[in-house]
Amino acid sequence: MTKKKVVVISEFHPAGIKLLQAREDIDLVIVKDPTPENISKAVVNADVITIRTQKITREQLALAPNLKLISRYGVGTDNIDMAYCNEKKIPVAITVGGNDKSVAEHAFTLIMSLAKDMKMSDKAIQDSNWKYRDTRSIHDLYDKNVLILGFGRIGQRVARFCQAFSMNVTAYDPYLPKSPVENVKLVKDFHSELAHADFVTLHLPLTKETNGLFGKRELSMMKDGSFFINTARGELVHEDDLLEALNSKKLKGVGLDVFSHEPPDPSHPLFKHDRSFFTPHAGGMSEECTSNLAVMTVQRIFECFEG
Ligand code: NAD
Repeated sequence: MTKKKVVVISEFHPAGIKLLQAREDIDLVIVKDPTPENISKAVVNADVITIRTQKITREQLALAPNLKLISRYGVGTDNIDMAYCNEKKIPVAITVGGNDKSVAEHAFTLIMSLAKDMKMSDKAIQDSNWKYRDTRSIHDLYDKNVLILGFGRIGQRVARFCQAFSMNVTAYDPYLPKSPVENVKLVKDFHSELAHADFVTLHLPLTKETNGLFGKRELSMMKDGSFFINTARGELVHEDDLLEALNSKKLKGVGLDVFSHEPPDPSHPLFKHDRSFFTPHAGGMSEECTSNLAVMTVQRIFECFEG
C-alpha cells in the first residue's frame, strides 16, 4: 500500500491525531516546534498539510509537488500563499463555523473585563490595596454603544451577546445588503459612528483592503475614554497607534487577542498598560473548539482521499 504523507503543523487536538493514527494508509508527520526551518523539512513530498496560523510560503509549498490539499485548522487563509495555491490548483479547506462561538465569547469577555476593570481589581487584592475600589472607574454595559466592524459569524454572535446586556449595536459590513440580526443598525461607512461608540470591536478578515484599516486617523475619531477590542487579526491595526491612543487617554483600554507579529515582543510598552488585556491568540482555543476543529480538519482530509 502506498501511504499518503499527512503533515500536521502546530498544536492539534488529540481527537484529530487519533483519527489520523487509526488509518493505515497515512504516514503521519507532526511538527511540534513549527519554526520555518522545521516546516520546510517536514513538508517535503507531503500529500496533505494541515496548518493553524503559522505562515507557509510558496517556496515551502513547492517542496510538496504532489500536494493534494491544505486543510486549515481554523478559518482565515492569510497565513497561506493563496496565489501559489490558485496557480497550482491546490484546494484549501477551512473549518467554517468551527470556532465562531469560542471567539465571540472571548471578544465579549474582553468587552466585559475592560468595562469592569477586572485586571486591576484582581491586582488590588494581591497588593492588599482594598482602597482601590474607591478610586477605580468601572462601567455598566447597559445602554452603551458598541460598533462591530465585520458582521459575519463571529461579529453577529458578539452582537447578540451585547444585546443580551442591553447595549446598542451598530455594525459595519459593506458586503451585507441588510442586517442579519434584528435591531442592529447596519452602516456602509463606519467613520461617522466612531465618535458615538463606547466599544469598537474588530471581526474582519485580513485582506489587502483591510490591512491597516484602523490607523491613527480612525483612533483619533473615537470617543474619549472608549475601549478597543481586536480578536480578528493583528495587521488590521497598528500597535504603536494603539499605544499612542492609550497614552493620550483617547482610549481607556484595549483588549487584544491578536498581534502584527506573533508572539509579540513582550517588552513593547503597550503591555505595560494595566487597564488593558492581552491574550495569546487564544480566542479559538477552548477545549470544545479545538476538538471540534481538529475533527473537521481531518474529515476534510478523508473526503479528499475518498475523492
Ligand atoms: P466571516 O467570514 O463569517 O465574517 C467576516 C465578515 O467580514 C463578512 O461578513 C464579510 O462580509 C466582512 N468583511 C469582509 N471585508 C470587509 C471589509 N473590508 N469591511 C467590513 N467588513 C468586511 O468570518 P468570521 O468567522 O466571523 O471570522 C472573522 C475573522 O476573525 C476571521 O477572518 C479571522 O481573521 C478572525 N478569527 C480569529 C480567531 C482567533 O483565534 N482570535 C479565530 C477565528 C477567526
